[in-house]
Amino acid sequence: MTTLDATDPMPPSTIAVGAQLEMPLPQTFATVEEERMHRKVTLAAAFRMFSKAGLDEGVAGHVTARDPEHTDSYWVNPFGMHFGLIKQSDLVRVDHAGNVVEGNRAVNGAAVAIHCAVHAARPDVIAAAHAHGPYGKTLSSLPQGIEMLTQDSCAFYNDFGVHESFSGVVLDAEEGDKIGRALGTKKAVILRNHGMLTVGHSVESAAWWFLTLERTSQSQLMAHAAGTPIVIDDANAEATYGTVGGEFAGWFQFQPIWQKISKDNPDIWD
Ligand SMILES: [Zn+2]
Repeated sequence: MTTLDATDPMPPSTIAVGAQLEMPLPQTFATVEEERMHRKVTLAAAFRMFSKAGLDEGVAGHVTARDPEHTDSYWVNPFGMHFGLIKQSDLVRVDHAGNVVEGNRAVNGAAVAIHCAVHAARPDVIAAAHAHGPYGKTLSSLPQGIEMLTQDSCAFYNDFGVHESFSGVVLDAEEGDKIGRALGTKKAVILRNHGMLTVGHSVESAAWWFLTLERTSQSQLMAHAAGTPIVIDDANAEATYGTVGGEFAGWFQFQPIWQKISKDNPDIWD
């Protein structure tokens, strides 16, 4: 993974040539309180996106954002609350030992087991996303991994791990640690017979990687159902990864989603 950095622009080939052109750039924050509120509101917006994209299934799924001040803790959705209703004030803060340290709502035990391990193993990661999307979990049951069949799939070129052994609902720290090791330094991990997990250097990128991985999974399944797909060669996959696979690209892809969700759902700030 590359590091999200406001000074790291999109590759020049993706930007039209011209003077005084404007585009969204990552914000900077004067105080830790401002940064915390930004992460929490963006996390609430990510849940709204997951809901709209059909990525909720009952009480499954959790997306987390590291606290900018107490960095050994993260914000997470309350257990049993619909993604489409989550406001920033509903989020609960959990430390890396699994204790709820802010908020009075219960948290999914699987969220604690998985996200404590991932956030502790990856200090560079700000956010982690996991849900039971239908295409991602279907692909997780197949052996082929993420194939380079489309331009968008190249965001995961040599950038995903596989947690092979399914052993029931993840509820203990040891299994969470195994997921953290399978993720390694990558942006995504396939949880065999379970689903997908993505991480990012921002809430925006982690949420985007999850959405695009779900669609990449859908595309791959459709391609194999329809025929024998043509695979992108390594050189082109690697070059495309350089354009679509970096942290800034992930953050940037979320911006149209943010614009629409924040306009349509002002209660995410409540
Ligand atoms: Zn799960």
